[in-house]
Amino acid sequence: MKLSQESLAELKNKLQTKKLALSEELKLLNGEDTYHDLSRADGNSEDADEAYEDLAHEETQIKLHDLQKSLFQVDKALNLMETGSYGLCEICSGVIDQARLEVYPEATTCFEHAI
Ligand SMILES: [Zn+2]
Repeated sequence: MKLSQESLAELKNKLQTKKLALSEELKLLNGEDTYHDLSRADGNSEDADEAYEDLAHEETQIKLHDLQKSLFQVDKALNLMETGSYGLCEICSGVIDQARLEVYPEATTCFEHAI
């Protein structure tokens, strides 16, 4: 079953909202990264503080990576909408179940080929 214009518009809306939320989160996270905190340049850091900062930095990097991956997937789905291939599995070219798209609008694979 092909997606109706109405469903497509609704899913596009969801994707754009998600993209905005992800971009905001990315911006926030970048600001929170302790390595970008200028106040640490006062030279009084204890060793323990630095160990904590390293850990916090690592956690931030992992979160950033996840966010960037999600954002990439959302962008990919939006691009597919532009080219008219949205809703088709990128592996088997089968139609992606609409129920799946409603839960996960950035899906570019069917249930069977979900990563
Ligand atoms: Zn498939």
